[in-house]
Amino acid sequence: MQMPVEDLSKKILSKQIDKQDAMRLFQSLDKESQQRVLAIVRRAEGIAPAPDGKGAARALQALDQRELGDEHRAWIAALVEKYDRFVPKSKANVLEHQLHFVDQRRAFHLIKDLKKLHFQITYTRAEGAYVHDVDGNRYIDISGDMGVNLFGHRAPFLIKAIKHSLDQGIPLVGYSDMIFRACQLFCEITGHERTLFTQSGTEAVMFAVRIARAATGRKKIVLFDGSYHGLSDAVAATRDLAGNSFPLAPGILQEFAEQIIVLDYGDMASLDVIEQCAAEIATVLVEPVQSRHPYKKPVEFLKALRQLTIEKDIPLIFDEMITGFRVGPQGAQGLFGIQADMATYGKIPGGGLPTGVIAGAAKYLDLVDGGSWQFDDDSMPSAKRTGMAGTHSQNPLKIAAALAVLGEIKKRSAETAPDGTVTCFQDVLNRKTTALADVLNTFFREECLPVVIDTFGSLFRFRFVDSYWGVTEALFFILLRMEGVETNIQGNCFLTTAHSDEDIAAVIAGVKASMSNLKRSGFFREPDQEPPTQDSAALPDTTAFAPSPSGRASPGKDIERLKALLNADLALAEELSLTDELGSLK
Ligand code: PLP
Repeated sequence: MQMPVEDLSKKILSKQIDKQDAMRLFQSLDKESQQRVLAIVRRAEGIAPAPDGKGAARALQALDQRELGDEHRAWIAALVEKYDRFVPKSKANVLEHQLHFVDQRRAFHLIKDLKKLHFQITYTRAEGAYVHDVDGNRYIDISGDMGVNLFGHRAPFLIKAIKHSLDQGIPLVGYSDMIFRACQLFCEITGHERTLFTQSGTEAVMFAVRIARAATGRKKIVLFDGSYHGLSDAVAATRDLAGNSFPLAPGILQEFAEQIIVLDYGDMASLDVIEQCAAEIATVLVEPVQSRHPYKKPVEFLKALRQLTIEKDIPLIFDEMITGFRVGPQGAQGLFGIQADMATYGKIPGGGLPTGVIAGAAKYLDLVDGGSWQFDDDSMPSAKRTGMAGTHSQNPLKIAAALAVLGEIKKRSAETAPDGTVTCFQDVLNRKTTALADVLNTFFREECLPVVIDTFGSLFRFRFVDSYWGVTEALFFILLRMEGVETNIQGNCFLTTAHSDEDIAAVIAGVKASMSNLKRSGFFREPDQEPPTQDSAALPDTTAFAPSPSGRASPGKDIERLKALLNADLALAEELSLTDELGSLK
């Protein structure tokens, strides 16, 4: 017998039901009842019109380049003139030096109609929350240096440490005292047993995968759709619609891609695949919250994955390149209560200098150096060792920076408020980021704009729900720059401890002004006429559904959407209770 529609809806909304049970019960309903549950849930979440038509505001749609008309082209031409006056030297630099200077970002996300606006600007200096360009402009920098920047530019403690190290020279062969202390501190903060510095994040992932292969003697690597792990051949694969892996770019061999199994992230069915192929799998590599999709926080999935990989003796690697030290002292592992066998880091612990780090269980890291042995007995390094080296892996300058950053993190994670409570600085920053997103998401809703800001810790990202990198989105980032806010074309934004409340208010004002300008200028259009029960009629939900690549909602997506909604709610609830445990009072 099926559960009454109202009862099931109530359970879902009050979160009295496990999401898997909810899905099971939902799927046992007939089609009509499913539609009724969806309507009730969506209305309660504020993403669908009430039956009386009240609140039936329809989200606008962002323009695609194919939809540009003469009036849009004229507007773009006027913008180009203005932009040329705004950043003339930056533009001239790109033209002048392109013959010799190679940078893949130059062509990244390039839209032909916006070609004249598409170039990186040239910075002259950076200080605190700001970067300055060669044309004399100052920007509030929310690019976060691709996730590196946690304390703002030129943080005095960091500059002092690097200058001091520079004064000691840069010898590369022997050890420095700093490398011992940095590794010790790294283990202490993250809870891992051993730590290895590498030259970049890409290299850390590549070596961690090699360690896992050496440990297990197996070949295959599992990773998840939507993640990014750098571009080493070991992990640079994606999959086609039939699920077959293929290389991410020309020059990467199909033979490498074939060793990589790409699965759906957060989908329990992926665990079945892992279970079936366990005997061949050397490692499961996961970006716990994908920086490109921060709205997915599948805690329950990750816990089940951890359990399964323990049962099958598959080393689990968390790639915490972005989440590590940002969402909390122990990154996503600490927040979700899941310990990986190895975790890869970079960005923040490099303090602005190039680095990567692998931290993990001795069982795995011993495969690099043979583990521990004594000088005065017969003990010897363990025989099985893999190959790993790098001229600059332990470069003292960056180790000095790492030591300073780790020291600062340790100190500031345990700061106490006047009333004696511990106020972890990451929690304060995370709350500021959530508040920024809340204000702007409310604005987007009120203006019927199809845009949502997703956050995880102090990472946030603008998501255009109907389109991916259409002309409106690209123009938004140009206008935002002209409002004095610098982002990264790749899309991730970050707050740092250097951003004051005034800076945050200025970012909010800049976003509102840019979006309003685009709306006024016709870069958001009325949505297609579709039956109002389908997705496109609704204002964007701030927690759920991913953008559809076609730009058009499909009826079959409703179940997916309910699933996403339940997932997001559950993850949020878990995240809140976990951060509470860490002393964060939301
Ligand atoms: N893994 C993740 C999750 C990343 O975000 C990145 C870089 O953005 C990398 C790996 C590669 O790190 P790097 O650029 O330092 O080589």
